[in-house]
Amino acid sequence: MSTTGRTDTVNGGISFWYAQDGIAAPREPLPGDATADVCIVGGGYTGLWTAYYLKKAVPFLNITVLEAAFCGYGASGRNGGWLYNGIAGRDRYARRHGHEPAVRLQRAMNESVTEVIDVCAAEGIDADVHRGGVLEVARSPAQSARLRAYHSVELAFGETDRVLLGARDTADRIRVAGAVASTWTPHGARVHPVKLVKGLAAAVEALGVTVHESTPVTEIRPKHAVTPYGTVRAPYVLRCTEGFTAGIKGQRRAWLPMNSSMIATEPLAPEFWESTGWSGRETLGDMAHAYVYAQRTADDRIAIGGRGVPYRYGSRTDNDGRTQPATIAALHEILLQFFPQAARARIDHAWSGVLGVPRDWCATVTLDRATGLGWAGGYVGSGVTTANLAARTLRDLIQQDSGQGGPTELTSLPWVGHKVRKWEPEPLRWLGVQALYAAYRGADRREAAARSAETDRVAKLADRVSGRH
Ligand SMILES: Cc1cc2nc3c(=O)[nH]c(=O)nc-3n(C[C@H](O)[C@H](O)[C@H](O)COP(=O)(O)OP(=O)(O)OC[C@H]3O[C@@H](n4cnc5c(N)ncnc54)[C@H](O)[C@@H]3O)c2cc1C
Repeated sequence: MSTTGRTDTVNGGISFWYAQDGIAAPREPLPGDATADVCIVGGGYTGLWTAYYLKKAVPFLNITVLEAAFCGYGASGRNGGWLYNGIAGRDRYARRHGHEPAVRLQRAMNESVTEVIDVCAAEGIDADVHRGGVLEVARSPAQSARLRAYHSVELAFGETDRVLLGARDTADRIRVAGAVASTWTPHGARVHPVKLVKGLAAAVEALGVTVHESTPVTEIRPKHAVTPYGTVRAPYVLRCTEGFTAGIKGQRRAWLPMNSSMIATEPLAPEFWESTGWSGRETLGDMAHAYVYAQRTADDRIAIGGRGVPYRYGSRTDNDGRTQPATIAALHEILLQFFPQAARARIDHAWSGVLGVPRDWCATVTLDRATGLGWAGGYVGSGVTTANLAARTLRDLIQQDSGQGGPTELTSLPWVGHKVRKWEPEPLRWLGVQALYAAYRGADRREAAARSAETDRVAKLADRVSGRH
């Protein structure tokens, strides 16, 4: 760990969530060659939920999880704790497969929020869950126009319980400076990411799944997961490495590792919470192109995040969560724009993590029946809930493939088996992402200054060129 700018801000150390809750005792690395029925690579939410549901469905299955560092080292131990119903790519799936299949996908996501909460309760995982819904605010005319359009689209995908709020009703929920409108959905909860991932790893182990940590997989081939300590042979090998996928042999241009960074304040005084009215503990976001996401933690801090330096040359991932001082300053500035009364609040911690972005920005879950290789991810920053849906889908796909089940509602969802082209080679990849986020930041600045309800033209162009919409 080290300090930046302000000497009292911890930078890195994986995340604030670990500083608060500690890292679990290390698990043994793979001791040598081994066999399994299913080998899962990556011990984040995707890998652990998959192990959980497979073992619950077929208790005699021999399942091995191989984790390069420790369970929850990646985004699952660093995220904003928005357990919500957003899934990357839904609108594109609607265009490709039709509206009704995409509505089913959305419904499955809504149900997944409840599913995670229910399993936490059933397994005794105390992850500071609070179901206060999601509030997304608009702070400029252009954001407001986008918010209304977004709200209508969500209604059309079956979210009839979502509400659109004007300035006064928004302030009744949370007084965000400059907020002119908002949309609120009940399909979201605040969680403590690390308590969730640690609880899940413990639950999986208690079921009899073998978990090896400090065991990086260097190569995945059909029926083989190769590590420096030995090879696990298994009919099914599942890649659950999300933002780290580019580090595996042959996967360099699959999913782009995009950074997201966060800061957490010190615990804020009751007067602060009274002045903001943020008593419902909704997760809070905005409609900027380079959007932010925030939560009120169980111990009354604000944890707020957004994209800083979005991407490192050559798909490099991070350095145990350290982030750039400029990113910390930018997030701090946004915090103060939202809540000027937090001006004197200390920033206790700053950190970053990587998420996986496919070339078409669509999350996917796949089992290749010819090879037994499976994967899930490309969640583009909406993975806390999506990983749970992906895991239950991988379970069903494996049961179907091994003759223990037939097609299910989950295996028929439009994101199953989706194929996407690779990212461009460097330096195009780096240049493209730098230009994209420079365009978004510029668009946000221009929209904030303008009185027009039009979305900035450069942002629209950036969306089209990047494949984001
Ligand atoms: C700062 C930040 C904030 C976010 N906020 C939110 C949010 O509020 N809501 C939301 O829905 N989503 C959010 N996300 C995204 C969400 O956290 C991820 O989509 C989700 O955690 C992905 O889980 P995963 O298990 O697929 O990947 P990860 O959690 O990244 O897990 C992958 C695991 O694989 C391991 N691994 C990597 N390479 C190898 C290898 N070669 N061999 C073995 N193991 C390997 C890693 O060590 C890691 O533990 C955020 C992400 C970040 C970075």
